[in-house]
Amino acid sequence: QKSLAVVARDEKAISPSSRSPYYPFAAASGAGALLKDADGNEYIDFSAGAASLNTGTCHPRIVAAIKEQAEKLLCYTIGYMYEESSVELAEKLISITPGDFPKKVAYGLSGSDAIDGAIKFARKYTGRSEIITFQTAYHGCTYGALSASAICLNMRRGIGPMLSGFHHFPYPHCSRCPWKEEPATCSLACLKEIKKAFSLYLPPEEVAAVIIEPVGGDIGIVVPPARYVRALAELCREHGILFVSDEVQQGMGRTGKWFAIEHFGIEPDIIAVSKSLASGMPLSALIMRSEIADSLKDPGHCFTLAANAVCCKAALATIEVIEDERLIERSTKLGRNICSRLNAMKRENPLLGETRSLGLTIGQEIIKADGGPDRDACAKICYRCWEKGLILTFLSDNVLRIQPPLVISDQEAEKGLKIIEESLEDYKN
Ligand code: PMP
Repeated sequence: QKSLAVVARDEKAISPSSRSPYYPFAAASGAGALLKDADGNEYIDFSAGAASLNTGTCHPRIVAAIKEQAEKLLCYTIGYMYEESSVELAEKLISITPGDFPKKVAYGLSGSDAIDGAIKFARKYTGRSEIITFQTAYHGCTYGALSASAICLNMRRGIGPMLSGFHHFPYPHCSRCPWKEEPATCSLACLKEIKKAFSLYLPPEEVAAVIIEPVGGDIGIVVPPARYVRALAELCREHGILFVSDEVQQGMGRTGKWFAIEHFGIEPDIIAVSKSLASGMPLSALIMRSEIADSLKDPGHCFTLAANAVCCKAALATIEVIEDERLIERSTKLGRNICSRLNAMKRENPLLGETRSLGLTIGQEIIKADGGPDRDACAKICYRCWEKGLILTFLSDNVLRIQPPLVISDQEAEKGLKIIEESLEDYKN
């Protein structure tokens, strides 16, 4: 078996630091929402490269754009010269991000470096040091992004110290509200924690930015209440704190809007994107108010390979495909269909707990009879799904992460759901 041989060689040659494998799957090729392993077996893809493939694997228009550019110019070094596709992409990003004010773009190569950049720009622009982020949030694995994250001890063990000045508050996860508030009468106790800090130990005039994912991804797909997000933005405005929206996972159409923050009617000061921006090619962008972008002087945020021409062309083609194929509308519609199928399955299957979603970002909890998280069942169900031809992963111990490419067909989505349904049955038996 070729796949197993790749796995064995990988384990000898590649550090385990980048992987927590769910099953021995060695990807070899793919098209749209289908992937093939090294032995030619075909799988439905419900993971979309951890939300990097909103346009699917190897979309022909994006591959054509990459090939065409690769034959002309690969690398031009943004630090020393100008190049048109990076300008065209910046103009496009400025036009599709919320906020009718002057904006500029800064480029990088990954979601992590985008978050590091957001921290630097926010500190420089405001002249303040402190950063507010959220418990259980994931923003990346470079030191800045990691300091902003608070999700997993293994990421931090033995590599400290982290950057200083980071304060992690509870993410508004209503169904796990530590204050047991009910949605109808919720007093936003979680927001009061920040206000309390402002009166006790965290001078608000020393806070540069709040960094938040408007829909929590690695937290387990958590959609915060609009009231919370708006009140948080208001608190930022009141104290001159920048609002940074981490759209690395949920941006580029996945939630049924270009950017998840649009669901809350907020115009962030800084937006961070990567992953699906260039359909999986290494590119990140910070889109921010011009005065923030202008505050950091050369070479304050400069990666040699940032804004690589091939990646910028891939991103331009990605945006065109999302627009031309109406993928944003598709994500809303398909997300709704998948959720109603999951809710129907729930009637037959007590393993299925809460379903949380916005567009085509869906989290399905796997629970024990007492309602508690069932990590073991979740892992086994994912494994069984793989055996039956579905690439599915999970988050936050017990949450199935359903984030297929937005180009997935109704038939492929149904086939994937059927595999989940059968795998749940197999687990029970
Ligand atoms: N922010 C969010 C919300 C993410 O989900 C991720 C990746 N899972 C990152 C930042 C980091 O992105 P990257 O892995 O490309 O560095």
